[in-house]
Amino acid sequence: MPICGVLGWPVRHSRSPAMHEAGYAALGLDDWRYQLLPVPPELLGETVRALPAAGFAGANVTIPHKQAALALADQATPSARAIGAANTLTFQPGGRIHADNTDAPGLIDALPRDPAGTTAVVLGAGGSARAVVWALLDAGAADVLVWNRTRARAERLCAEIGGRVVDDPPQTADLLINTTSVGLQWGEDPFKALPLDADDLRGYPCLVDLAYGSAPTGLVSAARAAGVEVVDGLEILVRQGARSFERWTGRPAPLDVLRSAARGKSAAA
Ligand code: NDP
Repeated sequence: MPICGVLGWPVRHSRSPAMHEAGYAALGLDDWRYQLLPVPPELLGETVRALPAAGFAGANVTIPHKQAALALADQATPSARAIGAANTLTFQPGGRIHADNTDAPGLIDALPRDPAGTTAVVLGAGGSARAVVWALLDAGAADVLVWNRTRARAERLCAEIGGRVVDDPPQTADLLINTTSVGLQWGEDPFKALPLDADDLRGYPCLVDLAYGSAPTGLVSAARAAGVEVVDGLEILVRQGARSFERWTGRPAPLDVLRSAARGKSAAA
């Protein structure tokens, strides 16, 4: 029985088990399972090394383990190395650990248009921003502008991956991507913490917000109200999960099924 799972701390609210198990059921992969793997940082190494012998085919990795997961791997894709983080581990014969980062291609999959030649503004310079900036540049974006509350962190990101640090985002760009954790608290006003206000959103034809919760984030609601095209955090989650699903099962992921499960709807709904 092939088993996959998601390593995190905490991880109990993850939607990945529902998403992947719905995908297995839709494809008749009846003996596949996907489990929550709540593991504190000090136990990550020994847990990951024990997973192959316990029947695991692979594991997703989420906060706070993505960098440590890359360090544990015997082999990694060039993108995971460049980003400095892994969200997908695959266990190979003999228990060797292969690391990949599907957050980057997942972002590109989720975009409504090819980002080649475009200008993008990225808010944030944490772990997910690294994958976003790398993905946009790899896909041929012409200019990637990075704003972060702590400027020094944006400078480090741009020095290592690329992009340009800005103190104030330009009034217009093709894409605005929020990778900060602003917006996770229900009812929080995102515009108090971010360098723009609701009217400024009209200067960006497309907003991507990585943050997600049980209701649309304040940024997503404001963008929709302004008539801006939106890609929300759940779509980003679905797309990175689909890439992991395909790597492990060797089958095309049933995207609509994953999407419905991630959004808490039955696949038939
Ligand atoms: P990190 O902790 O690595 O980075 C957090 C970022 O948010 C930093 O840039 C930080 O700025 C900024 N930030 C935090 N609080 C504030 C604030 N009050 N005002 C302004 N900036 C703030 O987190 P990650 O990059 O891993 O994750 C960021 C978000 O993306 C989370 O909401 C996470 O849930 C989401 N995410 C969603 C995914 C998906 O599949 N949809 C995948 C991965 C992440 P500073 O450097 O100044 O502290």
